[in-house]
Amino acid sequence: MRVHRLKRLLLFGPYIVFLVILALCIALFVSIRSQDRKIEALEEEIGHITVNQNGLIEKVSSFDSSVDELSSALGAISNELSLIDIGELEVVRDAANSTAPGKEWPRKVYLTFDDGPSANTAKILDILKKYKVRGNFFVVGTEDPELQKMYKRIVDEGHVLCMHSYSHRYNEIYSSVDAFTADLDKISALLKDVTGSVPKIYRFPGGSSNSVSRLPMTEFIKILDERGITYYDWNVVAGDATNPMLPAEKIIENSLCDLNEYEEAMILFHDLSNKTSTVEALPTIIEAIQKNGITIAPIDDNTITIQHYTNTN
Ligand SMILES: [Zn+2]
Repeated sequence: MRVHRLKRLLLFGPYIVFLVILALCIALFVSIRSQDRKIEALEEEIGHITVNQNGLIEKVSSFDSSVDELSSALGAISNELSLIDIGELEVVRDAANSTAPGKEWPRKVYLTFDDGPSANTAKILDILKKYKVRGNFFVVGTEDPELQKMYKRIVDEGHVLCMHSYSHRYNEIYSSVDAFTADLDKISALLKDVTGSVPKIYRFPGGSSNSVSRLPMTEFIKILDERGITYYDWNVVAGDATNPMLPAEKIIENSLCDLNEYEEAMILFHDLSNKTSTVEALPTIIEAIQKNGITIAPIDDNTITIQHYTNTN
């Protein structure tokens, strides 16, 4: 029985061994196939990653070029800003220094202040004193004793006190010759009372070219002529009459940019309590004019009569 079993073992042993080896080979083959698949999947994933990476690189480079564009745009803006920083003054000065005909600065500049006295009159006078220049104040009437003192200070400090009506109310002043005369009498009497004399210079409210007068301006000019009073308008506008208030930079620009158009320039400013940017702008304007060797002058008999109204109006 044992011999018989041994025989059987010897007979089937190699087959069993072969089968076992075969099974192992199959298992190995299956395992290798599965590893291969995993490797393929991994390769595919790496491929995706590479594609994504390329996409990312593309995005980064397009971002880079956007940054470049932005940077050059910023550069251009910065250039423009630096030009602005140099200031309108230098632009004006360059224009003034040019030797081209008609580009010379005027011989004289007259600073004229309308509608005072106001809370700013003392500040304006202080600035004029600091720069040793004389201005021209076209004043209106006031009943405030403190403000009335300004008429006297204007005269005492060597400036020219001029009239600009008592009421500054267009409807009243220009309604008739009598109304105009009454208003003129009132401001004349007040200024004579405070300063001792009646000014010989007048500026019509709204200028001699105003469009509100119901009568021809010749009617009122005649009254002034009879009294030996000369009227003056202006040829340069600081632009400070506007509401809301103009920033100082703009007032500076307005006051200086047209100066070289005229042999004698008369700048119109406003001396009103709410016109603080005019006070702020004044030192820069005076400095710019003085740096160019121009005289800032008080109006006198030699001043060109800058008048808007002509007989052809
Ligand atoms: Zn006025």
